Amino acid sequence: MSAFEKDVKAAWPSATDIRNRRWIYVPYDRYTDRTGPLTQQPASDSGIVIVESTAKALRRPYHKKKLVALISNMRHFALEQQARGVCVLYQFSPTSHGQTLLELQREHHLPTLICMTPTERELRLDLSFAQKSGLAMDFVPDTTWASTSEDFLDTYGSFKPGKSYVMDRFYRRMRQQTGILMKNAKPVGGQFSFDADNRRPYKGEVPVPKPPTFAPGSVTAEVIAFVESTYGHHFGNMNNFDLPCTQSDCDRFWQFFLNHLLPNFGQFEDAMRDDHLQIFHSKTSVLLNLGRLLAIDLIRDVAERAASDQAHLAACEGFIRQLLGWREFMRHLHEQTDGYRLLADYVPQEKDPRPQEHSPDRTKVAAKAYQSTAGEDPFAGAVPSDLYASLPLPAVYWGVKSGLHCMDTVVAQVIEEGWSHHITRLMVLSNLATLCGFSPRELTDWFWFAYVDAYDWVVETNVLGMATYADGSLTATKPYVSGAAYINRMSNFCGHCQYDPKKSIGPGSCPFTALYWTFLERNESILAGNFRMQMPYRNLRKKSAPELVQLRARAGEAIAHLESFERPGYE
Ligand SMILES: Cc1cc2nc3c(=O)[nH]c(=O)nc-3n(C[C@H](O)[C@H](O)[C@H](O)COP(=O)(O)OP(=O)(O)OC[C@H]3O[C@@H](n4cnc5c(N)ncnc54)[C@H](O)[C@@H]3O)c2cc1C
Ligand code: SF4
Repeated sequence: MSAFEKDVKAAWPSATDIRNRRWIYVPYDRYTDRTGPLTQQPASDSGIVIVESTAKALRRPYHKKKLVALISNMRHFALEQQARGVCVLYQFSPTSHGQTLLELQREHHLPTLICMTPTERELRLDLSFAQKSGLAMDFVPDTTWASTSEDFLDTYGSFKPGKSYVMDRFYRRMRQQTGILMKNAKPVGGQFSFDADNRRPYKGEVPVPKPPTFAPGSVTAEVIAFVESTYGHHFGNMNNFDLPCTQSDCDRFWQFFLNHLLPNFGQFEDAMRDDHLQIFHSKTSVLLNLGRLLAIDLIRDVAERAASDQAHLAACEGFIRQLLGWREFMRHLHEQTDGYRLLADYVPQEKDPRPQEHSPDRTKVAAKAYQSTAGEDPFAGAVPSDLYASLPLPAVYWGVKSGLHCMDTVVAQVIEEGWSHHITRLMVLSNLATLCGFSPRELTDWFWFAYVDAYDWVVETNVLGMATYADGSLTATKPYVSGAAYINRMSNFCGHCQYDPKKSIGPGSCPFTALYWTFLERNESILAGNFRMQMPYRNLRKKSAPELVQLRARAGEAIAHLESFERPGYE
């Protein structure tokens, strides 16, 4: 038995504590006493229940570092609460969270539990099943968010068939409502977004500060040993775990970003490097998604830096847009569409409408664009694929070297850290998948287990919505795809690659460019009418017939090359 297990067993609440305190269930992604039910009574009147569930951790081959970060933060949170006088009931369980709570409540006569409504659909479902079997639980609003469902519904109205959401509308509304970066009801600096200023490649103009690392303490060391022995077959490397796991370390991590990275965050937000993998990004997603940091606190800190001229307005606005805009927006979108399951009911397309002559056979699977999961496993993910992409995800995503330096670099980082920044997720990992026609659902499931910050509400919206256009134009107004030119402009990857980003056909040509043109050609009947795709289609039409034949051959060869490697199994 670990030292932590002994400690929690020794501190098991007495019958009097169970009777007299207000009991709160704290899920695995809400480690906070800065908002919510834990702030509503003194510590001496509070009790919390925490469940460490092996069933949940085994559901997917989650990155080992994700499990360490999550479990170590969970155990530290329990100890921190105990230290301030909260009674902690910490339960190790081989079953689900809902089932464990139900058994605990029956066995120990726990009163009705209070819980902030979970953001993760999976947990909502698990708890609702337990409630049907008798779990007494009252849900209260999740105040870790900066916006409410009503804010989203007031902006767009409720979900209807064929609807498109433009994030910017929601972001403007939230700026106005919160008064963040606003003066006299007008946006500070005269515009809501400085996105156009935030697209510089990084060429060593300013040094990139090295973020702090956190050596594992005794609790984390025990968790590392536990994860190795229980989940050793999972994805990712465990070496050199250095993420913060205590509240004070999480706060220190954030302060480092504020003081050292924020000033250059904006201008280099889209830049990619193989020598500075994090560049000026905050890497706060893992802590935000665990509840260790609260979005509204971060937003206010950054707005303050802008107000006191300690950081450029464009950098501050860029960061605030990610949190107050994208993060909140994605959460609402997931909730409103029930994780994209509601799409199943209104766009049933039985047949691939694209002309068949230019489609590589393997991408022509005429599956329904939206597969309903109704009546099947309620936990199974929705399978939208507006572009009929259905090829299996190849071995390169599991670390088998492909020779594409951009892919190999980013995948190696994900295996090492369980994290990479936004543009590498979007314009390398997802770009390749969309161009080739790899299954958006498989890509989503890969992101879900490979990234330390992945939870259903954020990974499904980002991959199925933003990154692969699998939901049509619900989330993104056009597919985020590019050939080598974009990657070459925004990174130093191509300079270290065997392929030539300036060549699209012939020996040594970069596969991304040929894949890009054949992607456009393959999906012309679906995308050519999109007003944001007019320019790419004009350029496609300028290509001669012989050039198109060569591009198709190069793209086919690239897909066959990626498919030629055997996929190592982690499941
Ligand atoms: C294909 C793909 C998959 C993604 N999967 C996830 C995921 O599983 N979990 C996750 O938290 N984010 C995900 N994102 C969004 C974004 O890439 C990450 O939040 C960000 O890279 C995390 O690094 P950071 O903390 O350094 O972010 P920063 O660049 O420092 O941005 C600050 C914060 O803004 C928030 N944010 C920014 N963009 C988004 C967004 N599109 N959606 C939600 N929050 C956003 C994050 O909380 C982030 O911590 C995904 C994006 C793409 C394109
Ligand atoms: S040349 Fe092509 S494959 Fe190589 S790094 Fe650049 S975009 Fe990636």
